[in-house]
Amino acid sequence: MRVIVIGAGLGGLTLAQGLHRAGIDVVVYERDRVEGRPQGISLHMDDRGAAALRACLPHGHAAMAEATMGGARREALALAETDGRLTVQHARPLDGAPGTARPGRQADRPLLRAVLLTGLEDRVRFGARFTRFKRRPDGTVRAWFADGGTDTADVLVGADGIGSAVRRQYLPHVRVLDTGRHMLMGATPLRAVADVGLPALIGHNSAAMRMHGRMMALGVLRFSQPPVAARDRWLPALRGPAVTAAEDYVMWALPVTGEWPDLAGPPAERWHRARKEAEALHPDLRSIVGRAWPDVTVALRGATIPAMAAWSAGPVTVLGDAIHAAPGFGGNLAMQDAHRLRDALVQAARGEGTLLAAIGAYEDAMRRDGFPATDVPREKAGTGVVAERRA
Ligand SMILES: Cc1cc2nc3c(=O)[nH]c(=O)nc-3n(C[C@H](O)[C@H](O)[C@H](O)COP(=O)(O)OP(=O)(O)OC[C@H]3O[C@@H](n4cnc5c(N)ncnc54)[C@H](O)[C@@H]3O)c2cc1C
Repeated sequence: MRVIVIGAGLGGLTLAQGLHRAGIDVVVYERDRVEGRPQGISLHMDDRGAAALRACLPHGHAAMAEATMGGARREALALAETDGRLTVQHARPLDGAPGTARPGRQADRPLLRAVLLTGLEDRVRFGARFTRFKRRPDGTVRAWFADGGTDTADVLVGADGIGSAVRRQYLPHVRVLDTGRHMLMGATPLRAVADVGLPALIGHNSAAMRMHGRMMALGVLRFSQPPVAARDRWLPALRGPAVTAAEDYVMWALPVTGEWPDLAGPPAERWHRARKEAEALHPDLRSIVGRAWPDVTVALRGATIPAMAAWSAGPVTVLGDAIHAAPGFGGNLAMQDAHRLRDALVQAARGEGTLLAAIGAYEDAMRRDGFPATDVPREKAGTGVVAERRA
């Protein structure tokens, strides 16, 4: 069996690791160049993502990822100001109720991405933008790329994110709707806010504060083990600044009010806009935004994909953001999809059922869990900030 994966994001790389490990011929085509955008700051990893890592990655890879995550995040804190100081007003357990976050741990995205790429060096083609596919009479699929190149496989997987070109051709009726919600997200080295008590107050939990009609959410990533020491123990082949430059940080998010920032300018302009958005907030929150790494500030737009009817399984399929949008746990769903699709394809490769039955079973499970239960309000359950706006 040969599998083409479009997109070297969380879902595509998790799938590729799992297939490669099972001895299946897999190749990943990624639009970005190898040193492309960092693809985010940190990620709240819950049991679905962690299970996928353990199942799909070699032991050392999964151990490296887990050793470097933050501590257990079990609560979402609501902060309030009391006599000028920030205090915890309310702590809500992360119970994983439909449409809400589950308990988990914080993972550093550049580090996770570096782990996912390790061992796939000869399986990932960077700078290759997929443009279209064609199903062939012999049941295989041919893919075309912007540079004119082509490739053919038994299965084509669209793991190419919210703007998926695979989905646009394969399931043209599926709509991505802009929610109109915009957000700026950034990160601040923990050492830069050593004099601010807030990181100690919230521990490993997430926290949010509303003040004067403005809101800010934040969390802290404290690496459980120093990444270099963990690398030396679990994954010596892992190289690069994602390991050597890693340090503890606070990540924060600010909904954008008013006009959406012009993103054509240098990244620092987004940070300046974030500082402006934080002006009405408590001085501790202003300090966190004001002492951020300017270049990692990203601007995001909210999107939702309404649930769709089932389609007949074929040799083309989709996973992750390419087919569903989830509030704050899309990465976990993408990894869960990758885990399930890996299992299904490995079974088919072993001759345990047909390929199309395996893909159909994967898609049934993906549609069941990737979209909210009917009793969850659509605007709550299917809406998430999922797309990074690129300058
Ligand atoms: C700031 C931010 C914070 C987030 N926090 C969390 C969180 O805490 N927990 C969580 O679970 N989720 C979180 N998410 C959501 C999560 O990042 C996404 O749901 C997840 O990345 C989806 O993974 P994916 O593999 O489906 O797609 P992506 O990670 O988007 O990867 C798609 C890949 O496909 C490539 N691609 C696109 N088009 C083409 C093409 N034509 N040809 C070739 N390659 C192509 C892209 O370059 C990209 O590398 C967050 C998202 C953002 C933006």
